[in-house]
Amino acid sequence: MARMIPFDTTAVFIGGQWRAASSRETLPLTNPSDGTLLAQIARGTAADIDAAVAAAHAALAGDWGRLTAAERGRVLLRISAKVLEQADELARLEALDVGKPLKQGRADALALARYLEFYGGAADKVHGETIPFANGYTALTLREPHGVTGHIVPWNYPMQIIGRSVGAALAMGNACVLKPAEEACLTALAFARIAHDAGLPAGALNVVPGLGEEAGAALSAHPAVQHLSFTGSVAVGQLIQAAAAKNTIPVTLELGGKSPQLVFGDADLDAALPFLVNSGIQNAGQTCSAASRILVERSIYDTVLARMAERYRALRVGPAISDLDVGPVVSARQRDIVERYLGIARDGGLAIAAQASIVADAPKGGFYVRPTLVSQVPPQHALAQEEIFGPVQVLIPFDGEDEALSIANGTAFGLVAGVWTRDGGRALRVAKRLHCGQVFINNYGAGGGIELPFGGVKHSGHGREKGFEALYGFSTLKTIAIHHG
Ligand code: NAD
Repeated sequence: MARMIPFDTTAVFIGGQWRAASSRETLPLTNPSDGTLLAQIARGTAADIDAAVAAAHAALAGDWGRLTAAERGRVLLRISAKVLEQADELARLEALDVGKPLKQGRADALALARYLEFYGGAADKVHGETIPFANGYTALTLREPHGVTGHIVPWNYPMQIIGRSVGAALAMGNACVLKPAEEACLTALAFARIAHDAGLPAGALNVVPGLGEEAGAALSAHPAVQHLSFTGSVAVGQLIQAAAAKNTIPVTLELGGKSPQLVFGDADLDAALPFLVNSGIQNAGQTCSAASRILVERSIYDTVLARMAERYRALRVGPAISDLDVGPVVSARQRDIVERYLGIARDGGLAIAAQASIVADAPKGGFYVRPTLVSQVPPQHALAQEEIFGPVQVLIPFDGEDEALSIANGTAFGLVAGVWTRDGGRALRVAKRLHCGQVFINNYGAGGGIELPFGGVKHSGHGREKGFEALYGFSTLKTIAIHHG
């Protein structure tokens, strides 16, 4: 695979150096579009995590820790500019590695650049307060970095998740150890190279690819890590939180969801339709905030069903590099999970309202699934309760606000919701009663969300990333009281 960004796929990146993992072993990386071997990646171990954490502490005690907030911001802005220069190449790497169509890979690269721009600009704008206190005292607060932050990221949006977590952590002056997913880590390694070339001091960002249960577990349990940021499955999130508890450190968990869009009878359907479908099929449905449940007021149910079905039938599914509407899912395992749910739907007699087709010349070894719209799904059915993480959307009819809210809030998750109505009062009333971290009214996921605090309630996790709020999460508050008489 020819590469324009000179990074070593088989190495770990620690203290500004590429080196072999201590295991001397590699793991295969597969191209989901055809199932062929894409690259070998390092199998990082606990020893590599140890070295990365030590390098991060050295950076805090050295060049990185000495920078002012404004200087840190400038470094991030330089990295952002270099990411933009390399956006096409990063999109290509992500397409090969994750299977996402090139235009989505490019959107992710632009989002990474924008996160770095946002956090670069914000680095010197986070400050503490002075507090009215007893006579003869001045009291104030300082915002300080946690120290070394661990970032365990999944395979679905590597660049965006690196941008939002590593970007904010670096802006606040932390030093980062990043463990990308074993299914997709090329852009994490390419990003390390870009950041290094843009002048990020050695050790401020260290990248250790490897297995979750090996390198990931070592990072989450490391006693010299002061904060953990995790995006991924609920089961692993719970392990991460338990590991963080042992070291009594804060943890941010973003664990996906079963997000609903609520479409009321007075909604502007022409505006809603593209959002309803795209929120389910973008990145082949492998999106934590995917709107996998579409709740429709009964008076317009048949219309919405027919119009969504029409769009589904027109979708083209094929290799990422062909840049169609939908690519493959990331792995054979993920494909099998989605197929299992489709089997449950068929066996349970659910109505498959529409399925997209896979282009005839899609390589046979690719991990393709047909985006599927399922109608009249009972709210308690597995397809309406469990995160499938594939291009499957369920439609559920409702009567009135109360029923819509009880269905919307009736899962273990609470990440994002959409509300479509022309009634402003209802829009706000419903938004306030939804149990989730983000609500979009008459849009869904506008602007990619860089500026908008993001995170969940219930099994979707806790803590907020994105927006200015993330800077508070990636820092700690120190109170100083001075007695001066
Ligand atoms: P996962 O939670 O297993 O993996 C996410 C990250 O955690 C990866 O970097 C992985 O290496 C690491 N990890 C795995 N086990 C670990 C451990 N014991 N200790 C520390 N780190 C560990 O997710 P997955 O296997 O890639 O996907 C499984 C399911 O998770 C999906 O089907 C989907 O439902 C969900 N998921 C959600 C998101 C999201 O954005 N919220 C992203 C990916 C996957």
